[in-house]
Amino acid sequence: MLLTDVMKENMERFGEYPFLHYGEKTYTNFETAIHAKQIASALKNLGIQKGDRVLVCMPNCPEVIFSYQGILHAEAVVIPVMFLLHAQEIAFILENSRANAIITSAMLVPKLQEAVRSVATNPMILAVDAPSAENVQNLYDLMNQADASLISDRLNLDENDLAVILYTSGTTGKPKGVMLTHKNLYSNAASSASLNTDGRSTTLGVLPLAHVYGFTVTNVCFLLGNSVVIFSKFDPDAIFKAIETYKVKGFSAVPAMIHAMVTSPHADRYDLSSLEWVGSGSAPLPVALLEAFRQKFNAEVYEGYGLSEAAPTVTAHRKKGIVKPGSVGIPIPGVEIQIVDPHGRELPTGEVGELIVRGPNVTTGYFQNPDATESAIQNGWLHTGDMAKVDEDGYLYIVDRKKDLIIRGGFNIYPRDLEELLVSHEAVSEAAVIGVASERLGEEVIAYVVKQAGKEVTEQELIQFCQDRLAKYKTPRRILFIDQLPRNGVGKILKQRLRDMSSEVEL
Ligand code: ATP
Repeated sequence: MLLTDVMKENMERFGEYPFLHYGEKTYTNFETAIHAKQIASALKNLGIQKGDRVLVCMPNCPEVIFSYQGILHAEAVVIPVMFLLHAQEIAFILENSRANAIITSAMLVPKLQEAVRSVATNPMILAVDAPSAENVQNLYDLMNQADASLISDRLNLDENDLAVILYTSGTTGKPKGVMLTHKNLYSNAASSASLNTDGRSTTLGVLPLAHVYGFTVTNVCFLLGNSVVIFSKFDPDAIFKAIETYKVKGFSAVPAMIHAMVTSPHADRYDLSSLEWVGSGSAPLPVALLEAFRQKFNAEVYEGYGLSEAAPTVTAHRKKGIVKPGSVGIPIPGVEIQIVDPHGRELPTGEVGELIVRGPNVTTGYFQNPDATESAIQNGWLHTGDMAKVDEDGYLYIVDRKKDLIIRGGFNIYPRDLEELLVSHEAVSEAAVIGVASERLGEEVIAYVVKQAGKEVTEQELIQFCQDRLAKYKTPRRILFIDQLPRNGVGKILKQRLRDMSSEVEL
């Protein structure tokens, strides 16, 4: 089974049901399928062939979803790209993927024209809401000229065909294109669909659709015949309003969004009594934040773990299982995990080592990058670069990213331990801990802290707070206050940016 087959089934089973809500607009499953087929037909008219790559680069809007489905129905490959990227970053992706076309929106056309200028393949720009101009064509004009009925429900696709290439954020060098096949996508969406969804219901698509976590949420809805409300940007009030309007029981989010909901002073203006759960993934969720969410919204938090290379979900908590705060749950159906030492030997329960993953969701490798593929995938196991442990019940705990480990005077320090401790202080809202070079100890520990609104605390007080609760060698050398932590499009803290900012800090 492929996601493209699901569209046909949905038309038959749920054709008249809404699939997508966006602002005032609603699209049924039938309308979604027609838009997707029109895009597929338009792409074919432009000469796009099986296996060609098409970039989709715009903020969340219905056309992102229509385009994903349309590109897959043209038997081509989707490259989702965060619209916040710089023109040069987009140019790198265009060049590396040798993309043939870009689907975008009017406000991004100048940036994409700039990106295209430095790319030899000269991809076409198709804009949903811009008039046709030199090297730009209006997508709806092309769709209106195309014949959706020419797109068959029986596509010439195999489950091992490439469906998506996801470019990593490139925090450790040039971005790599994670190749995901139709099998990877379908198996992950199907396994995720068996977990925490509420049959025939409406959920929220609050995550960027350009991120694997965001588009999987919509794939899962699609699979279940459910409806999804999408938002062009994250705003807690809009989320509360949608929960009230659609009687939403649960939705997937990231810790930064959960934090924004917890700290919003407006929650009690809305009737949020339908809310039963929120999922959290993509970055560590501090236990103190999980508890605060539970208390404020009287709803459960199901933390899960995943990565682009696993399309994305690896583990999750289940509605019908026990919730262990601090853990990211157990493997989803069909996925195996192991914790290994640096020689690849499996470690006993409770010991910390690198997490490796195997399953039908795991990527076949990086596009045009055999070296990176060889080092990440060994004997069918994906090496995640995350340090983790598993408890006696099989629950996984992410200790930290291997590359964020700080080695101070020969002692290993996982930033996450310190971050969890710092946010448990009543005056601390958020914390990020990094290592910086030190002549004396190799590395020193610096913590960046955002204070709770209206609360005061000094650097010395927080250092003392850590010293009273942790081994002395783990105590941060400096604690620096900051108004806001630098984050990427899915709210992950950009630790490299913090490291770059810290080179001048007096230790
Ligand atoms: P890059 O690998 O280039 O830095 P990225 O971080 O954006 O890019 P993703 O595939 O989006 O790559 O993120 C996967 C990573 O997110 C995981 O390897 C892990 O480090 C982190 N992660 C995901 N879920 C959790 C979680 N629940 N707790 C802690 N970390 C998590």
